Amino acid sequence: MSFIVRFALAAFLFTWAALAAAQQQDFSKVVIKASKVSGNVYMLEGSGGNIGVSVGDDGIVIVDDQYAPLAEKIRAALKGITDKPVRFVINTHYHSDHAGGNENFGRDATLVAHDNVRKRLMSGSFAGNGGSVKNEMPASPAIALPVVTFDHAVTLHMNGEDIRALHFPSGHTDGDSIVYFTKSNVVHMGDDFVTYGFPFVDFLSGGSVKGIIAACEGTMEQLPKDAKVIPGHGPLSTFDDVSRYVVMLKETTAAVSKGIKVGKTLEQLKKEKVLEPWKKFSGAFISADAFIETLYSELTDKKKATPLVKH
Ligand SMILES: [Zn+2]
Repeated sequence: MSFIVRFALAAFLFTWAALAAAQQQDFSKVVIKASKVSGNVYMLEGSGGNIGVSVGDDGIVIVDDQYAPLAEKIRAALKGITDKPVRFVINTHYHSDHAGGNENFGRDATLVAHDNVRKRLMSGSFAGNGGSVKNEMPASPAIALPVVTFDHAVTLHMNGEDIRALHFPSGHTDGDSIVYFTKSNVVHMGDDFVTYGFPFVDFLSGGSVKGIIAACEGTMEQLPKDAKVIPGHGPLSTFDDVSRYVVMLKETTAAVSKGIKVGKTLEQLKKEKVLEPWKKFSGAFISADAFIETLYSELTDKKKATPLVKH
């Protein structure tokens, strides 16, 4: 391979590390780590989104199921906690690092998600920030589609507690749920809250930074202050961490908005490094420039995607 090709390939792999890992990553090396969070709830970390797990006499409920090739490893990790079967899977959204395991778990568990998760899995979809980050999510086979869908909220009564999935519109995507384990006092925030820095906001799938802020604030308003927080990606967190993340989202939105109001172009905003004060959030997946694109797309309202439902 020539240097240029190798360089281009490396840059490509780097950009798509988080979203397109399914095609490029060596999943044989992934180790699934299980840890107890509180009450009936465990958390599994491997590659892709964190998995929330409820265990008890009624069986297992998991929130998200990571990438398709990891399903057997996830099953093995669950066996280490309990012999009970997986009865329900709740998807926080449709991305393949959170719902990829559906095609395996869908064989013997009931898949539950917001209406738009089913629609996007069925048709396939483009995930992107409205700028340089864009990736195709291919259509899923029928076995991987949620068979119970909801528009606003649904409750599973399992293992001695209510497990509530609450939809917040237009956050990370247009089909996000946060899932609250009411007695264990643990919430899985999906990708409305992540700890890897500037978030990936899937503008092309109806997501918005504004909606993520609303989802985080709405969750904190409704739940006890001491709830334990499982982020979409990253270590176990608290609402203090979510509050700091919301402050960063509001401040960066204001900075880009100010630039747009005085007539600055996207290129100027990038060149002037308007997000420099928040550079510690600039990451390998979503750089400061990519987050400027995200906010610019949203604030100039050049919606390339039409939300599938209005709220
Ligand atoms: Zn996602």
